[in-house]
Amino acid sequence: MSELRFEGVTVRYGTGRRMMNAVDAVDLTVPPGQVVGLVGESGSGKSTLARAAVGLAPLAAGRVLLDGRQANRRAPRGTPRPVHMVFQDPYASLDPRMRVGDSVAEAVPRAALADAEDRRAEVARLFGLVGLDEGHTGVRPAELSGGQRQRVALARALAGRPSVVIADEITSALDVSIQGTVLNLVRDLQQRMGLGMLFISHNLAVVRYVSDVIAVMYLGRIVECGPAHRVLADPQHPYTRELLAAAPRRDGYAWDAAAEEGGAVADAEPPDPHHVPAGCRFHPRCPVGPLARPERTRCATLDPAPDAVARLHRTACHFAARTP
Ligand code: ADP
Ligand code: MG
Repeated sequence: MSELRFEGVTVRYGTGRRMMNAVDAVDLTVPPGQVVGLVGESGSGKSTLARAAVGLAPLAAGRVLLDGRQANRRAPRGTPRPVHMVFQDPYASLDPRMRVGDSVAEAVPRAALADAEDRRAEVARLFGLVGLDEGHTGVRPAELSGGQRQRVALARALAGRPSVVIADEITSALDVSIQGTVLNLVRDLQQRMGLGMLFISHNLAVVRYVSDVIAVMYLGRIVECGPAHRVLADPQHPYTRELLAAAPRRDGYAWDAAAEEGGAVADAEPPDPHHVPAGCRFHPRCPVGPLARPERTRCATLDPAPDAVARLHRTACHFAARTP
């Protein structure tokens, strides 16, 4: 089992006046064999962080380490890949002209295969792991359902013998009726194989279903991170409370941000990463910040991030709810 660690990771896009940090000094650890759920609205930088981990987005600062060694390199085809990414759209990772069995076989490290029979057996094993019939190996991606294609993408990820899998919105394109099945499969595989996982979704209801740890991202920063039960039962950051209030509740975690905060601020302007607000970057939308409470001036001037890093359940807010 391996630990994946982001240390001060910054990813920058654009130049000159269009320059912006899509990911801004992020510290995040995926402990061995655990699922870290990364949640945040569209554009908050989740995919960029994921791509940084596998060398698909260059770092402007910081490092990504797997068990202390640089993780963000692109592995040559046919070699083991300790960190593997699965994308929202399996069409992006599966060649439409290739039989899916061959797509999976291609990702098996060459050293693991002595001959064609070995290869066939390994592909059959991987198909079995993800709950696909061996008979499916000969078909092309278009002949499969969305859920089956995502299972093939998972088999392809597992072929590289990863110790950490990064799953970026892997159920978001699927029909709601099969999302649960795929989530159960992912959770089952993760537990059986002792995989670490960074599980990304804009949907908190999905993230909380699979995660041991929950990290909340806003405008390129992790604003809250902690054990899933703690973050869900006792959210510290006003943005996390907003997300929780918006997510459908099915599991007894109840949180009503509007009632708690005395009415949410109606400003729904999406944040612009080219013009990051000073101080706390959430303050122009915050229901407990200076818009609602003018005396809270430091939210607009002082960045709350630096104080947050060291704690187990950390939150970047000057007025975070106090943990008992
Ligand atoms: P998320 O996955 O949370 O929706 P992304 O990581 O895709 O967020 O995007 C974060 C920010 O970076 C957004 O403002 C997005 O427009 C920008 N961005 C993402 N990819 C690129 C790129 N290749 N070039 C320029 N800007 C990008
Ligand atoms: Mg994304």
